[in-house]
Amino acid sequence: MEANRKDLTAEEIAALRSSKVAIEKKAKPWVVKEPPKELNEDNVIYWSTTYQKLMGLGDRPIATKAHRFLKEKCVKYNPDKKAFEVKPIKGYNKTTYTVKPTNDEIGFKCNCQYHTKTKKVCSHILAVRLSLKIKNWNKKNE
Ligand SMILES: [Zn+2]
Repeated sequence: MEANRKDLTAEEIAALRSSKVAIEKKAKPWVVKEPPKELNEDNVIYWSTTYQKLMGLGDRPIATKAHRFLKEKCVKYNPDKKAFEVKPIKGYNKTTYTVKPTNDEIGFKCNCQYHTKTKKVCSHILAVRLSLKIKNWNKKNE
């Protein structure tokens, strides 16, 4: 007797179809996002709680500007002054701001108008924090 598809019963066809569907629908395993070995100017924002907090508070311009300071390598440590210098973003302004370490909760103070007035984390302090995070993170994973 010749066996072909026509010999299959309706139930057998249905069973074949459902098993194929089941294989196709098989859930993909969870992709667990592991911390990266190396932090850089782009992925540091996902691992910085300060950055996340500022974004949550709606301080998006500060977070965005800090990110640009990093991308354009504006943050430099000046050992003579024992302070960080945040150079201006090209075409944005011309002032270099000084960020000095402090013992308060923020950990730094900046001589820009925003920080002087509000005592909050400004884009310069955030840029320094992010650059330190990159440096320490990569040192730990060397
Ligand atoms: Zn500042």
